[in-house]
Amino acid sequence: MASLMPNHVKKPKSITESVHGVCVDISFEGKGVVKAEGETYFVPGIFPGEEGDIAFDYSRGGAKFGKVIKLDKVSPNRIQPRCKICSACGGCCFQQYDYPAQLIYKTNKVKEQFRKIAKMDVEPLPCIGMEEPYFYRNKIQMPFAKDNRGNLYCGFYKESTHVIVPVDTCYIEDGRAKAVLDAVKKLGKSFHIEPYQEDEGRGFLRHVLIRTSKHKEQVMVVLVTYKDAFPSRSNFVKALLKECPFITTVLQNVNSRHTNVILGEFERTLYGPGYIEDVLCGISFKISAKSFYQVNPVMTEKLYMKAIEAAQLTKEDVVFDAYSGIGTIGMVASRYCKNVIAVEIVKEAVIDARRNAKHNGVENISFYCDDASSFMVNMANKKEHVDVLFMDPPRKGSDQRCLDAVCKLSPSRIVYVSCDPSTLARDVAYLSKKYQLRSVQPVDMFPHTMHVETVAMLRLKDSKK
Ligand code: SAH
Repeated sequence: MASLMPNHVKKPKSITESVHGVCVDISFEGKGVVKAEGETYFVPGIFPGEEGDIAFDYSRGGAKFGKVIKLDKVSPNRIQPRCKICSACGGCCFQQYDYPAQLIYKTNKVKEQFRKIAKMDVEPLPCIGMEEPYFYRNKIQMPFAKDNRGNLYCGFYKESTHVIVPVDTCYIEDGRAKAVLDAVKKLGKSFHIEPYQEDEGRGFLRHVLIRTSKHKEQVMVVLVTYKDAFPSRSNFVKALLKECPFITTVLQNVNSRHTNVILGEFERTLYGPGYIEDVLCGISFKISAKSFYQVNPVMTEKLYMKAIEAAQLTKEDVVFDAYSGIGTIGMVASRYCKNVIAVEIVKEAVIDARRNAKHNGVENISFYCDDASSFMVNMANKKEHVDVLFMDPPRKGSDQRCLDAVCKLSPSRIVYVSCDPSTLARDVAYLSKKYQLRSVQPVDMFPHTMHVETVAMLRLKDSKK
């Protein structure tokens, strides 16, 4: 197979001589920061206090990356991982690091981003952890490939590559996903389904996406295909349902583009209603394939309750929910305030949101499909009044147009929910000309990975409320 390394990653050099190094920290990306012979290497699978021999692996953006050859000194926080391939897969950089130490890392990571990016000395509250931090993910998406015996396999892309590391059991995913993936592998062979080969632009099955409901016995399977024509489509679906009778809906999504984006535009429901339902904070939500829904349902409830608590809502408050997805935060907030205005850019999510409000009998919320920045600029120009702003942007954060509009709108409280502490710190620094940062609460939505979610509360300077 041709090399599919993205251009920005230099091809790994063959391992030359190893050097002895000491791990002094963990980087933003969850790699050990190793000092060796006056050089710094970023090395996966080594933790602070550990020492050993490492070898140069590759360089990227001027930084050197290495790999562990031999460990001489082991951290007391190192544990036996449940997953045998966690080092190769790269998704769970911390399965070998005990959970309390992971939480300390995440609290510090948030603090560090505020220090480095916002130049602010912030003391985050300790990261809230998960009681049972395994099998939590409700959304699983795996690419497929075929081995030289013609068997289908699926897995995760090895970090910074498009090489699939085969995964049999994933310890952070909802257990129901494995049965579905095993069935697709088995049926794929008997139905002669060809996995998509992106380097050659041919084949059929690109990804299988599975969504599970925590509170309802519902499972969605999306077969993402390169082409629309699906020979034996209905027989395949029948056979899949026979193997996994717990599946409640099956969709085909067609993605013919040469892109890393998993889902394409066109979608057809092959079985069931085309969505699944789940319950968050006592409210039920219908979720379709293209809508965003938080991946850890247990911790999402904790996150939302922290966000609501931080907002200190009253029945007089007008609330704005920016980047609202299927309306989850806004709907929870609607119980405690006068009314909610919500904006989201993905039209399928807005359709879900409206349907969800109706289904739950929530009448004091309105949803708009628009770019959050344009919508807020408009609101600010019209001098509309907002008391509390919840904002939960994607990883890249908000933009200056949006933040300027926020300053103009001047809500007395902002609750910023973020999945990337570096863009959070950047945006908070920008808002700090008018707002004072009052609290920062990290929440571990993604145990065993480097990611952390954060709820930051800001208050308008000189505000009475
Ligand atoms: N608050 C929701 C969704 C958060 S994820 C929840 O907790 O589930 C971020 C959301 O922002 C996604 O639904 C994404 O589609 C949406 N989004 C991304 N860019 C946007 C933009 N420019 N304007 C409005 N929404 C946007």
